Amino acid sequence: MAEWCERIEAIKAQLPEGVTLVAVTKTHPVSTCAGTVDCGQLDLGENRVQELVEKAEALGPEVRWHQIGHLQTNKVKYIAPFVHLIHAVDSERLLAEIDKQAARNGRVQDVLLQVHIAQEEHKFGWAPDALLPALESGMLDALPNVRVRGLMGMATFTDDRAQVAREFSGLRTLFDGGDSAWDTLSMGMSGDWQLAVEAGSTMIRVGSTIYGARG
Ligand SMILES: *Cc1c(COP(=O)(O)O)cnc(C)c1O
Repeated sequence: MAEWCERIEAIKAQLPEGVTLVAVTKTHPVSTCAGTVDCGQLDLGENRVQELVEKAEALGPEVRWHQIGHLQTNKVKYIAPFVHLIHAVDSERLLAEIDKQAARNGRVQDVLLQVHIAQEEHKFGWAPDALLPALESGMLDALPNVRVRGLMGMATFTDDRAQVAREFSGLRTLFDGGDSAWDTLSMGMSGDWQLAVEAGSTMIRVGSTIYGARG
């Protein structure tokens, strides 16, 4: 446990003011989450709804749970009562469902819109060119219980650091051209968070650097 705290502290020591670390605890047991909270790290990220809900039930309400992975519409209801931030919103249908479930819970749900910045087929998200037009066409108009805080993206999984840096910079440019109320740009994982921070990330999602490789 002390080791996790040291790794968390080492990462945080390198983050500029205003950049938040989300510790990605997916696949690790509840005890790992509890130990992380004991280190004072309250932002935890999960990518599967069932696992997130089980862990949230086991831990106290002080944890800020981040749903970081692809979210299926039919699972929104399970996290809607409490989830802090939904990172990977990638369709109007999902936005509408989040709005509906947030309203049922008397909440305004903070979300990030996922943008597809990688040169890989399988990653989710809006095409960079399609996002601002969708927003301008009123995509959010009838959704009073959703508050978009910014954007999220994942770079290509490659050793080509210049390419990763380019993808992150492109996302930062898109973010800067978006709503002036946006304050969160979620980009950067274990392998590339330094590049993401250099490109202007405000939120990094780091798992294996803190906890070791997932089994
Ligand atoms: C698993 C995951 C991470 C963390 O990945 P690491 O490489 O272990 O840091 C970040 N973001 C998303 C969306 C993930 O699914």
